[in-house]
Amino acid sequence: MRLSIVVPCYNEADVLPAFNRRMIATCEAVAGGDFEIIYVNDGSTDATMNWIVRFNERDSRIVGIDLFRNHGHQLAASAGLQMARGERTLLIDADLQDPPELLAEFWNEMDQGYDVVYGQRSRRVGESWFKRVSAQLFYRGLASISETAIPLDTGDFRLMNRDVVDILNDMPERHRFLRGMVAWIGGRQKVYVYERDRRAAGKTKYTFLKMVSFAVDAVTGFSTMPLRIATYLAFATVLATALLAAYVLYSYLFLDVVAGWTSLGVIVLAVSAIQMFAIGVLGEYLGRLYVQSQGRPTMLVKRRVGGENSLPKQMDAA
Ligand code: UDP
Ligand code: MG
Repeated sequence: MRLSIVVPCYNEADVLPAFNRRMIATCEAVAGGDFEIIYVNDGSTDATMNWIVRFNERDSRIVGIDLFRNHGHQLAASAGLQMARGERTLLIDADLQDPPELLAEFWNEMDQGYDVVYGQRSRRVGESWFKRVSAQLFYRGLASISETAIPLDTGDFRLMNRDVVDILNDMPERHRFLRGMVAWIGGRQKVYVYERDRRAAGKTKYTFLKMVSFAVDAVTGFSTMPLRIATYLAFATVLATALLAAYVLYSYLFLDVVAGWTSLGVIVLAVSAIQMFAIGVLGEYLGRLYVQSQGRPTMLVKRRVGGENSLPKQMDAA
């Protein structure tokens, strides 16, 4: 199969028929008849699932799965990616904010030998001030602490080749921040700048709480910086201790101070520094344990040239 389309849907009954029409037309233009569209119903409470069933009755290239309950966008997308069989897979939102027609451009870019072609938003139309500002701050903050370079202002709208989807499906981590994971995989990736449309109907399904948990998954999944905060505080406390010790000496020699104040101050600071160091050391080991427990492959092999040698266990992910 040449092409799979993965569409996570949560209460999208109002847009689904229009989306489906535009998506099918684009797939036919790009991949002939050889494609599948996989709708993932993420525990919707409206008629979303009925639409998916109806689409499938009319056209067997359209399939769907129905999750037991709402698992959130990233897990719904992951479920669809596990099912995708195409040589190339497009991940797209159902709400028509990402124009389905862009698949044609992504497809041509991929023909140049890219592993991933992803959309980057040049402008967001019809989104709230809060959403725009928080997204700006979030992506820039994340970039400054993340160990992986995660591109700014991108969503999950992207075309991926088979290798990348296979690696993604092999990554066992449970908290899935897909755009970070794809950036982590690397390979040849191409940005495609586009203007993000307004939602065709309904309102955003990312509630404030979902945005917070999304951000926490992003930070904890791609950075162990927060565990290091104690170490930085330890350095700050050592500096403060040194300054205070100098002041203590000065006041002992030249000023008249209450007996005991100075020694107490130094003791408190010194003990805090020791504690911060101890917590920092714990953080460092915990960070290593955590990274290990994420179970990501240690390195990814693109291809082997010649020979029959089997690749080392950790390296056969691709
Ligand atoms: N979505 C989902 N589960 C959720 C929330 C959202 O499957 O719990 C889907 C939603 O139907 C849409 C996509 O994820 O296809 C992006 O959601 P939305 O458009 O609400 O997010 P926004 O564009 O506002 O960031
Ligand atoms: Mg949207």
